[in-house]
Amino acid sequence: MIAVMSPSATSQDIDHVVEVLRLHNLKAQLSQGEERTVIGVIGTGFPEDLLETLEVLPGVDRVTRITRPYKLASRDFKPMNTVVEAGGTPVGGREFVVMAGPCSVESRDQLLRTAYSVADSGASFLRGGAFKPRSSPYAFQGLGVDGLSLLEEGRRMTGLPIITEVMEPGQVERVAQSADILQIGARNMQNFPLLREIGRTRRPTMLKRGLSATIEEWLMAAEYIMAEGNPNVILCERGIRTFETATRNTLDLSAIPLIKRMSHLPIIADPSHGTGHRYLVEPMALAAAAAGADGLIIEVHPEPDSALSDGPQSLTLDGFDQLMRKLAGVLAAVDRPMRRLPKPLLQASA
Ligand code: PEP
Ligand code: MN
Repeated sequence: MIAVMSPSATSQDIDHVVEVLRLHNLKAQLSQGEERTVIGVIGTGFPEDLLETLEVLPGVDRVTRITRPYKLASRDFKPMNTVVEAGGTPVGGREFVVMAGPCSVESRDQLLRTAYSVADSGASFLRGGAFKPRSSPYAFQGLGVDGLSLLEEGRRMTGLPIITEVMEPGQVERVAQSADILQIGARNMQNFPLLREIGRTRRPTMLKRGLSATIEEWLMAAEYIMAEGNPNVILCERGIRTFETATRNTLDLSAIPLIKRMSHLPIIADPSHGTGHRYLVEPMALAAAAAGADGLIIEVHPEPDSALSDGPQSLTLDGFDQLMRKLAGVLAAVDRPMRRLPKPLLQASA
């Protein structure tokens, strides 16, 4: 249920609604629009006459039942796009962002070479996995905390904010000390203790779509984070499992405009995991930008053939540079500027 306040409602009116909800053991989440405030009612077991009770309070314009199971993530609750401020870079605004880097942080040389190169090509975030969710327990599991330190070094050298995955609730505090954006991997999309723990931080979080999650399940996972008080959620379409085996996953491009209609949250596309093949990454990246994505996350490696994870889908440094040049044309066509790093930071890295 949401209570839409009238444009002339005072802060006392808003406080009063919040207090009435508290008396009913319900929580309020406020969404401050340009003209009016919308109050989302959070909790279980709404009294039957709650709508009527709220409707007559001073300053309340109307009260609407939201029939969708996700509320805070829905456009009904917040009509304006959410812009998540991550390490000084807005995600979900007019500027298109590109997150790039290796699947896994493997060594100082590998990470810094990649970081310089992607920064030079125009990336706006550095990605890299330190804790890796591998399908096999015998595969490389990541450098852990040492990987986080290398990412921090990459950020110091290039000025690029960093995004990295966190896999367990107990790691959230440590990873949040280093990362500008916490990444929740596809395999953890419904790890509810992890979602809750991240919800208690206000750290920007990129929530990847689960391997076989419906759009609604994905938005409900976002709702878990938001219901704990963290509104800074970015969604990431990374492909879903279908009957098709020619690609690693099926990148669901229709999810991009669909999410834009259903939710106010930013959405990023991951054509690397979405396809699994290097030669498919560029065309699907361009298509995602054309479909209205707010950004991309792309795996890039200086020597993909010897990568410890996801080499076949990783672009070379040159391949990424070429993609960025082509992307500029598509973004011009959809009238979206590319996020550019402030020049002094790039010069400092030279
Ligand atoms: C990754 O980004 O390297 C990753 C493991 O992605 P996903 O969770 O989408 O498989
Ligand atoms: Mn990967």
